[in-house]
Amino acid sequence: MSLPIYLIGARGCGKTTVGQALATALGYAFSDTDRHLQQTTRRTVADIVAEEGWDGFRHRESQSLQAVTAPATVIATGGGMVLAVENRNYMREKGQVIYLNAEAGVLAARLEAYPEQEQRPTLTGRPIADEMVEVLAARDALYQEASHYVINAMQHPDSVVEDIINILALARAS
Ligand code: ADP
Ligand code: MG
Repeated sequence: MSLPIYLIGARGCGKTTVGQALATALGYAFSDTDRHLQQTTRRTVADIVAEEGWDGFRHRESQSLQAVTAPATVIATGGGMVLAVENRNYMREKGQVIYLNAEAGVLAARLEAYPEQEQRPTLTGRPIADEMVEVLAARDALYQEASHYVINAMQHPDSVVEDIINILALARAS
């Protein structure tokens, strides 16, 4: 049975973009915890945070993680999924966890180039570049800890997909 593949990392690292391409390449299903949350609640992340606070959002996020977990599925997770230790343990136990690693400046440039895709409110209300530096400083260790493999996400999405496939194939062969 093919284990689920979880993609983790900060906003803009390519979890959705790479996840969809990886799923296609492997013939896996694709799920996105943010999208699942929005479809089941019929609200945007921003709405949920406004109405229930970040704690309410985080609780619903854990439920979404478990709901979308299935064999032969690539799962793009919300950027803050690793904040809860139960989510980190759950992903590591259930599947292969891949950290899409990119520098703060790269992430900020991507999010600034496509602000309309960014439905999540900023965490600090400050410029996105400053925020990404802070977010990575706070979370990089958690992404590292939660992941089985770290992949350079500052390459073309096709190359990121190729690296993931190679690293998973190597792991299987050893
Ligand atoms: P996430 O789901 O991790 O927040 P997305 O997949 O939504 O990230 O990507 C955020 C933005 O960055 C999108 O506009 C996407 O097209 C772009 N992007 C994602 N991965 C790459 C990449 N490897 N190279 C260049 N742009 C990328
Ligand atoms: Mg996404």
